[in-house]
Formats: sequence, structure tokens, C-alpha cells
Amino acid sequence: MDRIKKMLLLHVPTSICNFRCMYCYIAQRPVHYQGLQADMKFSPEQVAYALRPERIGGLAYMNLCADGETLLTKNFDLYVRALVERGHYAEIVTNLTITPMLEKILSWPADLRARTEFKCSFHYLELKKHGMLDLFADNVHKIWDAGASASVEVTPHDELVPYVDELKEFSLKNFGAFPHFTIARDDRTQGIDYLTSLPMQEYDRIWGSFDSDFWRYKKSVFGVKQTKFCYAGMWTAHINLATGNAQSCYRGYPMGNVFENPDAPFPERPTGHCKLAHCYNAHALLTFGCIPGSTPTRFGDNIRNRKTTYTVEGSWLQPALLSFFNTKLEENNKLLTPSQQKYYLALNKLQDVYIKLRHAAGRVKRFIIKKIARS
Ligand code: SF4
Repeated sequence: MDRIKKMLLLHVPTSICNFRCMYCYIAQRPVHYQGLQADMKFSPEQVAYALRPERIGGLAYMNLCADGETLLTKNFDLYVRALVERGHYAEIVTNLTITPMLEKILSWPADLRARTEFKCSFHYLELKKHGMLDLFADNVHKIWDAGASASVEVTPHDELVPYVDELKEFSLKNFGAFPHFTIARDDRTQGIDYLTSLPMQEYDRIWGSFDSDFWRYKKSVFGVKQTKFCYAGMWTAHINLATGNAQSCYRGYPMGNVFENPDAPFPERPTGHCKLAHCYNAHALLTFGCIPGSTPTRFGDNIRNRKTTYTVEGSWLQPALLSFFNTKLEENNKLLTPSQQKYYLALNKLQDVYIKLRHAAGRVKRFIIKKIARS
């Protein structure tokens, strides 16, 4: 049975999207939807070689997500294929409306499809507005029929409330189950506020009615500061797929460029104490075990899978992929001793001081330059 050794979050800097969802995190950023293709500095073969199991210590769960619609990235299929051919498992985040790219991926050999999952972002109102609801459902079935995995996920938002009943009916009819639910955060306030104007009791009543383990888990950790030792950076990396620049997790420590010297050891340096107000992608990072012992919730069973009568196996995820998604980093990696943890915490503190000093020196330098220019 395959087991997870690393979790790699591959950020695809393509900023083109055919949708404009009102709750989109990207739209909350000062600069967004620039309409740019990712400018890939490395070929699919170079990327796959740099992330080969022999270098990173074993097999990885790889999440691929763009700054827009992921499947609009040029040659995207070639990059994912090269990675899956190395034995890794891929999760592609998509609005599932770009059928030509989807069909290219679904034409791969069966063993590669079996290790590929589509996280289908079910943007109900945008799909309805564009007359694409049936296309979305058809594409989910194409994935299942091809022996790949599809998980349907909704981002709850206040404008969707009047459509809850029809959303439930559509989902049961087309996916054999309700969709899973995440929790939308307000990125303008460091991501610690819910993106809703509903009273919390009402919010819970409406979105809790979809009986999603994903939603329940996310609710339990939303806004909760993680204080235990985190192995992000040692067991995980967040990598820019176009450049190879990496950091430990979404907003973690820099790890350098992991594509430039593919024969050098893969960098590993644990974050230790999390700097964020909360782990906003805890549903993946923590359920895969970045903080040992933090939750019994499993990414496969609880976050992505649902039972359905629409697949031969009776579930949204294929058995091999489901069992891989149920493994945890903490079960397949060595834990650091308390003194090793102390060493890394001290090293990270030193780095924090160094970064602060560098920023302060930069500010002083800019101030002096301004003064000289004015005098
Ligand atoms: S708790 Fe989450 S956000 Fe914080 S360092 Fe660990 S993985 Fe990153």
C-alpha cells in the first residue's frame, strides 16, 4: 500500500479565470485576475526529476492550484502527468468547466488516472449564471467513468442561502450525495473572520445541514491558534511550479529554490511554532498530520470522500487513492526528539531576528536616500 511521505502544495501562477465568484480569495487581493499564463522556467521533466521520490524521501500528495482556473494553464496536463508517472498522487483544484484539458488528462493510462483526483469547486451560482450546471455534472461523471477520483466542494456564502434546497436536490441527483463544505474566510482581516454577515447560529444551521465532516472539522479549527510543534517545511513544501521557489507552507519560512539544483538534497526545516493566527488550510495540512496527534480526522475519508451509487466502488474516491489520502505524514516520518525541536526553534528565532533587522536596515536606507534626494 502506498503511503504519504511528503505533502507538496504546487502553486500555479496562472491568473486567468472564466468565472468571477463573489467570495473568491484571489479577488480579495489588491492585484488579481491579471489574465497571465504561468511563465514556466522549467520543463515538466525537470520538475518531475526535481521532485522524484528518491530525492524527497518517498511518495507525495501534490495539490495543484492556480491563481485563476488551474485547467486554463498551458501544458498543465504535461506537468501533472510527469509527476504522477513518478508514482505521486495529484489533486487538481478546478472549477471543472474546461473540458478539453480535462479530457486530455482523462486520456492517460489507467494507472495514472487512478492516482489523480479532481477537487471540483462547485460554484453553483456562477455555473447557473453561465448555464454550465449540466456541463459540471457531466464532467464529474466523466472523471468517475475514467477511473479517476472527483470530490465536489462548495464554498458557503450568503448569496447562496436562497438556493440551498435546489443545491441539495441537484447534488443528490447528480453526485449521489451532498457536496462537502469548506468555510470561507475574509482575507482582508488576516483570514480569521468568517466571510458572512449571518449570525453564527444561523450560519451553522444552514451549512451544517449538509452533514459534511469537512465542514465540521474546519469549524472546529477555524480561528484556533496552533501552538504545538509543526513539521511544515520538513514534511511539506509550498512550491511555485513556474519558478521552483519554495516555502514551508502557505505563509511559512523560505526554503530556497527546489528546481535549480535537482541533485542537491531536498531542503527540510520545520516551522516549529506557527506564526499565523490560525492554520487556514488545516483541512489538508493538519489532517495529513503536520502537527502529530492534532486530529484523528483523515483527509480521504472525512475531507474528500462521500458514498455514492454512481461509481462501481460506491465512493467518490477510487480505493487506492482513498487509502493513500487516509495515510498521515506523522505515521511515515521520523519525529524529532525534544532537543532537536529546541534546536530548530532556536534557529528559526535567529532567522526571525535577522529578517527583522534586514527590514529595518532597508527602511533606514530608503529614508536616507529620500532625505538626500530632497536636500
Ligand atoms: S499550523 Fe498550519 S499554517 Fe501553521 S505552520 Fe503548521 S501547517 Fe503552516
